[in-house]
Amino acid sequence: MTTAAPEAPSTAPVTEPAFPVLPVIPGEHPREAPRLAPLEVIPGKALYKQILPGIVQAPLDLLLAAGRKSSLWPMTFGLACCAIEMIATYMSHYDLDRFGIVPWPSPRQSDVMIVAGTVTKKMAPAVKLLYDQMPNPKWVISMGACATNGGPYTRYDRVLQGVDKIIPVDVYVPGCPPRPEALLDSLLALQELVMEERGSTGR
Ligand code: SF4
Repeated sequence: MTTAAPEAPSTAPVTEPAFPVLPVIPGEHPREAPRLAPLEVIPGKALYKQILPGIVQAPLDLLLAAGRKSSLWPMTFGLACCAIEMIATYMSHYDLDRFGIVPWPSPRQSDVMIVAGTVTKKMAPAVKLLYDQMPNPKWVISMGACATNGGPYTRYDRVLQGVDKIIPVDVYVPGCPPRPEALLDSLLALQELVMEERGSTGR
């Protein structure tokens, strides 16, 4: 009968873990104890506010609307003399960038159309096509008397008597031409409208 030889004691050095592993026992680690103890539920106070103090809760539609109204991108697009005032509004004196309003030379990424000038019946299909190419949600500003109701060309057969005959308008700016301050005011009114319409899926 043969017996196995006893194992020789290991001579390999015992390696310590890089970080000490603490047993999760509240009583042995007083600094961890408050975190590990069961929460006492305070009636009327949200549980997540007890777990994560300093967290602010806000509805998602409010955050989305705040993001949209602070990053309006009007399409660079002008039809007549009102467009000169629109261009002046984009310049450094009025500085639309401080409101997050950035002119954008493509309908594909724009969400605001400023109809600045006379809309002739020949131009109307192109205006409608540009509007259709813009993604939802989108808004329209009718700038000046011509875009609103034909202006000085009212009752002219070749002039559209208001751009709202072909696309929906959100804000009208009176004047012939409106000053840059008036267009700036209309953009601020549009920002308020975006906040009021929050939660809608656009049109
Ligand atoms: S409203 Fe007056 S300034 Fe504007 S496009 Fe018409 S005519 Fe020109």
